Amino acid sequence: MAPSPKEIRRRGLMLVLSSPSGAGKTTISRKLLERDSGITMSVSVTTRPMRPGEVPEVDYYFVDMPRFEQMVEAGELLEHARVFGNCYGTPREKVENALKAGRDVLFDIDWQGTQQLAENARTDLVSIFVLPPSGEELERRLHTRAQDSAEVIAGRMAKASDEISHWAEYDYVIVNNDVEKSVASVQAILNAERLKRTRQVGLSEFVKSVQAAL
Ligand code: 5GP
Repeated sequence: MAPSPKEIRRRGLMLVLSSPSGAGKTTISRKLLERDSGITMSVSVTTRPMRPGEVPEVDYYFVDMPRFEQMVEAGELLEHARVFGNCYGTPREKVENALKAGRDVLFDIDWQGTQQLAENARTDLVSIFVLPPSGEELERRLHTRAQDSAEVIAGRMAKASDEISHWAEYDYVIVNNDVEKSVASVQAILNAERLKRTRQVGLSEFVKSVQAAL
């Protein structure tokens, strides 16, 4: 029997948001997740200590170094990187299951992780780089964050320029002048990418069935 339009399914996509700390990526991610039920956040593993207010298995899976190394050895991580002296990585299994089921996954990972995803899973990847409105504004935002020590802030300022230098490796770049406009831009990118021909599974069979009836 000819397939009905219902059988055109879609493979999920991996939406990566990267930026230097303080550019507003976390707020954009939170708002997108609240408004779009088709996308879920990938929860990373990290060896860094938990910060006040963070929830294990929601913000991160907090693990020690031996466990992290074990996960790398066993191929359980889709990508991993060292950032600010700590290790971070993306657990593979949940992401692969979501993509197969047609669900989209949002990643808050750095440029190193994005490069690895681009090498291993280019066709599933949509990457967005979030830039701050200006260097001065980024510095101001980093200073007004209560959670981190002056030493950590200084480290992040030094890293911000390094992170920003990778902007041209991304599919899209957003300057975060206005959070609401930035969320709307991310949603527009996501909506268009969802419609891509190459993500639609069973499309050629459907087209054949349409032609057969002509
Ligand atoms: P934080 O410690 O502030 O939560 O994150 C520090 C940096 O690590 C951020 O730039 C964030 O994007 C990055 N990061 C978080 N999880 C992962 C991950 O699983 N893989 C990679 N490559 N980077 C990550």
